[in-house]
Amino acid sequence: MQAEIITIGDELLIGQTIDTNSAWIGHALSQIGVRVTKISSIQDDELEIKQQLDVSIPKADIVIITGGLGPTKDDLTKKVLNEYFGGNLIVNEKVQARNEAYFATRNRPNLAVNQQQALVPDNCTVLFNHNGTAPGMWFEKSNTIVVSLPGVPYEMKALMSDEVLPRLRENKQLKGLYCRTIQTTGIGESFLAEYIKDWENDVRKNGLSLAYLPSPGIVKLRLSSYSGEHEKVNRAIENLKTLIPQYFFAENDDSFSQIIGKILMQRKQTIGTAESCTSGKLANEIVKIPGASAYYNGSIVAYSYALKEKLLDIPSALLDKQGAVSKECVERMAMNGKEKLSVDYCIATSGIAGPTGGTSEKPVGTVWIAIAGPNGVEAQRFQFGQLREVNIELSCSNALRLLLNKLKNE
Ligand code: AMP
Ligand code: MG
Repeated sequence: MQAEIITIGDELLIGQTIDTNSAWIGHALSQIGVRVTKISSIQDDELEIKQQLDVSIPKADIVIITGGLGPTKDDLTKKVLNEYFGGNLIVNEKVQARNEAYFATRNRPNLAVNQQQALVPDNCTVLFNHNGTAPGMWFEKSNTIVVSLPGVPYEMKALMSDEVLPRLRENKQLKGLYCRTIQTTGIGESFLAEYIKDWENDVRKNGLSLAYLPSPGIVKLRLSSYSGEHEKVNRAIENLKTLIPQYFFAENDDSFSQIIGKILMQRKQTIGTAESCTSGKLANEIVKIPGASAYYNGSIVAYSYALKEKLLDIPSALLDKQGAVSKECVERMAMNGKEKLSVDYCIATSGIAGPTGGTSEKPVGTVWIAIAGPNGVEAQRFQFGQLREVNIELSCSNALRLLLNKLKNE
């Protein structure tokens, strides 16, 4: 099954809004075995929308559209779809009742433009939107499904999860899909591919398909069968795990911080961070996980030498002699952070994120990460690249990876 995604909105084309909808939808569709073959972003323009539908519908089994469903004059999608599919706009009473109640509870009038939000083409299936005034719409034309969803990301996501994906999963072409994903770390995509090439040749010969999904610090491998061959997939995954025990760290889609959270919660242990080059981003990764308060105490962000001395008791002689980006400094940061934050584990980061500040001894991208735990402290030096943002992100993912390894070995 093949899908195209069309995102509609002038704001997407001038860079005012980043098109996150298509990324999210692309990911969600690929998870259920639908291959996305094209993403198009177009203006709020009647002719553009019709022309795009003419191009996409013959090529795709599913076309998902977002945007242009607002109540104002610039939003044209519903009008265009109604004309395109030859329908008539009628009032949907459930939507009307929801919208009236919504404005009434906020003591606001239901303006005429908002009342129009309850009008829907009579030849579509209405996808009820609990989070906004514009319902989603599901059309079918010459064997292609066309779904129109609001542009607001949280409204789109809820409608995809509650209405669109369950309906698509029921489709007989998709029922045969079976896939498993494993996560690896500590090895780059191309090195991993080289390392497992015999295994990969085997699974491809067996009719299974393999996808490499790299992100900073992690390469996921997704193995799929489109003809329901569970046994083949399961066997191949077990073989793979024994082939790369040093790189394999999890099945499913859990992030480092989710897995760390689960382990700490089970062991009733706590963590904190003492951050220089990541300055709070590491803490942010940890608190993204709901329930983090059970194991995360807090952080000390100490960017300057003065604050490293004041908040983390790093001796000024150490800073003068070895510098902040050094084994000695991060180890002290981690150990002192552990005491001050009263935690079982403290992660410390210190590095030269760039683009300036590098020396021949410590070029841009030099990062030290230390973890202090119940059995002492350990530090590791990393050499990343020239890009500041990427260096900060890699510092975080590697810090979490080191902590996870440590937790697994203790
Ligand atoms: P609309 O349904 O066109 O009224 O969109 C409402 C709001 O959703 C817009 O103002 C944008 O902020 C947001 N939005 C629309 N399309 C997208 C998209 N493709 N990705 C992320 N946000 C979007
Ligand atoms: Mg719009």
